Amino acid sequence: MKREDVRNIAIIAHVDHGKTTLVDELLKQSGVFRANQEVQERVMDSNDIERERGITILSKNTAVYYKNTKINIIDTPGHADFGGEVERVLKMVNGVILVVDAFEGAMPQTKFVLKKALELNLDVICCINKVDREEARPNEVIDEVLELLMELDANDKQLDCPFIFASAKAGWAARSLDDERVNMVPLFETILDYIPAPEGDPEKPTQVLISTIDYNEYVGRIGVGKVDNGSLKVNQEVALVNAHDPDKFKKVKISKLYEFDGLNKVEVNEAQIGSIVAISGIADIHIGDTLCSPEHPEPIPFQKISEPTLSMNFIVNDSPFAGQEGKYVTSRHLRDRLFRELNTDVSLRVEETESADMFKVCGRGELHLSVLIENMRREGYEFAVSKAEVLYKEDENGKKLEPMELVYVDVPDEFSGAVIEKLSMRKGELLNMNPSGTGYTRLEFSIPSRGLIGYRDEFMTDTKGNGILNQLFDGYGPYKGDIQYRTMGSLIAFETGEAVAYGLFNAQERGLLFIGPGERVYSGMVVGQNPKNLDIEVNVCKRKQLTNTRASGSDDALKLTPPKVMSLEQALEFIDTDELLEVTPEHLRIRKKILD
Ligand code: GDP
Repeated sequence: MKREDVRNIAIIAHVDHGKTTLVDELLKQSGVFRANQEVQERVMDSNDIERERGITILSKNTAVYYKNTKINIIDTPGHADFGGEVERVLKMVNGVILVVDAFEGAMPQTKFVLKKALELNLDVICCINKVDREEARPNEVIDEVLELLMELDANDKQLDCPFIFASAKAGWAARSLDDERVNMVPLFETILDYIPAPEGDPEKPTQVLISTIDYNEYVGRIGVGKVDNGSLKVNQEVALVNAHDPDKFKKVKISKLYEFDGLNKVEVNEAQIGSIVAISGIADIHIGDTLCSPEHPEPIPFQKISEPTLSMNFIVNDSPFAGQEGKYVTSRHLRDRLFRELNTDVSLRVEETESADMFKVCGRGELHLSVLIENMRREGYEFAVSKAEVLYKEDENGKKLEPMELVYVDVPDEFSGAVIEKLSMRKGELLNMNPSGTGYTRLEFSIPSRGLIGYRDEFMTDTKGNGILNQLFDGYGPYKGDIQYRTMGSLIAFETGEAVAYGLFNAQERGLLFIGPGERVYSGMVVGQNPKNLDIEVNVCKRKQLTNTRASGSDDALKLTPPKVMSLEQALEFIDTDELLEVTPEHLRIRKKILD
């Protein structure tokens, strides 16, 4: 059966190309907002770190109505795929809207998501947005998008996809540049015409694959998924079955069922084929579970959630200065917050360690963990972190394997040499080099994940902030051998109010270790994003704890920068006093200026 009254679509866009504005506008025009009620809140991208970093991590749902059709709009992660999230989200929909800025054109960041969409045979509507911009070059951008589709679409099926011109800001969409520019109707109509209605068999036993998990303090875990077969009713008994462990399942009763309406969830008693639903009240509902009829516990297969490749220790700040930067400082706070994160982030792993004050957090790359760290700091958590370490594996013959990444870099031509040199030093292998002819070169590398640790900052410095770097997990490969970093890190010192502490600062690791007088140990990390002006935050730690953290590392960088204990006189010989810009002993904070 086809649900002609429903369309399920996902939006793919590079950051700032207007996804949020477009969805706001569709919402407004669909009458979801009462007249004269301003759209104050951003619809999507509510996580401001995502905005700063130009990525969207959490998928969000919105539903708009046009004529008698409900259009579910699902946001897609705009950048790194932290845990197979893109594919799970795309499995709920029958088509995508690719939003492209009429001046900037198609950006490489959208490529991964678009490629997945095409692999899943989804239909594409391309919306060339910001046509009102003075510099807009919509016709050239169409050619660029077609080129991209040709490159990504193995069977060229989407080459005749509809193009819509729009100014989300001005509230109009048009099928051609000569058409009248009135409202969003041409886009609504194209969605209805072009994107297939969801299909399924209402007579078959119930199957609802849980694609994402929301978490709400009051109702707990909320599973979101699409009704693929059968139907779902309140009070219905279902089996929770996971395709990766189909024999173990439990039966539960559906207590609360919702559908999306505008930005809200509204309770419903029953949901039919093709509906995107949210289910609360099931405490141990997980991503990848299929809600099945208990008589036919047949789960829907899904891509296994990718495993973490990198770990960091999150450590309680037990310095006398703890509590100055944040509200939550205790081991209990840290523990609760980290384990709570597991409710919504399936690619994260949190482990207790021998020390009650330290947790091992494993994630999908440095960016994944640094987003978590920043989120927590903003929420008022104060803690120290160790440097990132790669999670190695062994193959069946006991040979060491390490996580690999594909790296896509776009840089102004003059910087490509520096990038190639740095990444080669970090065991990167150049796979492709394409000058675009417009002053930018696209470089493609295969590189061990550990080679990228701390590289983003260097990259920003080396490209004077003009480069774009994307990475994509590429599975485990044979260990590539030691990495020899050329720059070793520099020695810096600071006053703590009681004495001078000194130590080795390593830009690549964003990590620091100081041994102060009286054998007190100071550890710290670099905070702040400006590569030319690093804020360094230092925590005083117990010596034992810190030694444990450091000694557990098998990373090559660690060997190059062993913690050193030396006398102040010895240390001073290495200190470049120019680097000491600002000393604020109360906060144990120094500002280190990286000179050009
Ligand atoms: P997102 O990051 O893709 O969600 O992008 P936003 O919707 O937040 O838009 C980014 C910026 O582009 C904002 O300043 C918008 O006001 C602006 N913008 C969005 N759509 C248009 C448009 O059609 N024309 C122009 N000129 N600006 C737009």
